Amino acid sequence: MRDDRWPNGARSCVALAFALDGPTGPQLIDGSIWRSPKRFCLGGYGPFRALPRILEILRRFQLPATFFVPAWVVEQWPRECQSIVDHGHEVAHHGYMHECFWDLTVEEQHEVIGRSQVTFERVLGAPAVGFRAPTGDWHLETPRLLLEHGIFYSSSMRDDDRPYRHVINGTLSELVEIPTRVDMDDYSCFAYFRDPDFPPSQDRIASYRLTLDNWCQEFDGHHAIGGCFTTIFHPEVSGTPGRAILLEQLLQHLTEQNGVWFARCREIAAWWRSADTHEELPSEHG
Ligand SMILES: [Zn+2]
Repeated sequence: MRDDRWPNGARSCVALAFALDGPTGPQLIDGSIWRSPKRFCLGGYGPFRALPRILEILRRFQLPATFFVPAWVVEQWPRECQSIVDHGHEVAHHGYMHECFWDLTVEEQHEVIGRSQVTFERVLGAPAVGFRAPTGDWHLETPRLLLEHGIFYSSSMRDDDRPYRHVINGTLSELVEIPTRVDMDDYSCFAYFRDPDFPPSQDRIASYRLTLDNWCQEFDGHHAIGGCFTTIFHPEVSGTPGRAILLEQLLQHLTEQNGVWFARCREIAAWWRSADTHEELPSEHG
């Protein structure tokens, strides 16, 4: 392991990240959410109720975070989203209505990203520089389109435990990837609701204690190898009163370790991009 992988000799890096999805996704796009208002309320719980609780926890631990927010949510809850920025965190792209980019044409992706940038600039004062694919996959042209819209990092892929730069048309690009992990997605253990049952194969939520143990173990492993530990937490999932305690316990564990660089994704991406000597061979991810 290189000694200078992270700034100031830090051993590992933590990018706390939340997806403030709100009541977006296929049901909002096709309009069916209005026939099931309780689903709208479930999503609305994120920006309305859970977000302030999470911001308060982060403030207490004095930790920075990144919030990936569909621009439609920014429009519906402008004050709440502004409070993310006011607390010193980053707000970044997550589609306009949490679209599946794989399903969109190049023109549609242009429209979604461009329209979202306009919203970010108008409501929050600046366009976003980061992106997390709403459904975890994207179109082959998406990386190029992100760069064209001034976005210089993505946190969407699942293929590494350190950042890397994307290869576009055989060339190492300026787009930095901060890979995520599905086992650090709170949906995989806690997102359970009825009518319809979701996720279909899950018949109950996971144990809080065992989940906390999983998360801590995964961080310990990342710390040991000098990796970049990233979360896919959702305020509407992880911001309930009981799970907020769990989040506090996780942050307690992270902050008890020495040599951890806590940063917003844009700082991690900028630092990684500025240090060409940190690059892996492009073929690994090409
Ligand atoms: Zn999402």
